[in-house]
Amino acid sequence: MSGQPLPTPAEVAATHGWRRVLAFGAHPDDLDFGAAATVAGLTRAGVEVTYCVMTDGDAGGFEAEDHHTITTRRQQEQRDAAALLGVRDVEFLGERDGYLEPTHAVIEQVVARMRRHRPDAVLAMHPERDWDRLQRSHPDHLAVGEAVVRASYPAVENPFAYPRLAEQGLEAYRLPWLVLYGGPAARTNLVVDVTGAEQDKLRALRHHVSQHPDVPRMEAFVLRGMAELHRRWSGPGAAAGEDAPERYAEGFHLVAVNDASTISGF
Ligand SMILES: [Zn+2]
Repeated sequence: MSGQPLPTPAEVAATHGWRRVLAFGAHPDDLDFGAAATVAGLTRAGVEVTYCVMTDGDAGGFEAEDHHTITTRRQQEQRDAAALLGVRDVEFLGERDGYLEPTHAVIEQVVARMRRHRPDAVLAMHPERDWDRLQRSHPDHLAVGEAVVRASYPAVENPFAYPRLAEQGLEAYRLPWLVLYGGPAARTNLVVDVTGAEQDKLRALRHHVSQHPDVPRMEAFVLRGMAELHRRWSGPGAAAGEDAPERYAEGFHLVAVNDASTISGF
């Protein structure tokens, strides 16, 4: 909308000084749907990205007969997809799929990981429901968003929150940035140009074979969404002729949790 070229993931990381990103999703494949192309751009720029998947993915898949193996299959799919994107590690919290709530037990686990990794930015699902496409707002997704936002302030930076974490040596930490994906379009305030990484996203999504009954349809949907977002945000100045190659974007709600101007009170 600005008419300015959209920033690349590398440019966003350089602008905000991101060297470490901790990324949360509810199910194996959420992070790849929401942010895989951006993640690929970040890791290529030298940013260290860790995934944390909060549920075991037990309610996914379409084949009833081998459902008992779905958790281990989905974890391996997520590890393979993450490795393709240059993600350093994938952690699984193992909460039950479909039952995630932002309880103190869950928030404490999020705080523990934030304090251990001390990321410059936390990438997570948006806690607000998208009424335009309800499927993006699975209750587990909203719960991830709510748990991560509650962990980001005040718990992660309050040394008296969940005191056994400090006893374990996990010191309080002031998180600079939250980057939320999958939220209502009206919240989008950061759109990154991921052109060149769109095929990485499709390759990552293809690893989640247990979840996609119709891969070509899924891929067309994902590509169209990224292209439409780029067109909408790049402004009339950037519109080229009909032969110009398609460009792609991913969108986020960027929240400054702590910057130089922040004063804190618990
Ligand atoms: Zn999901």
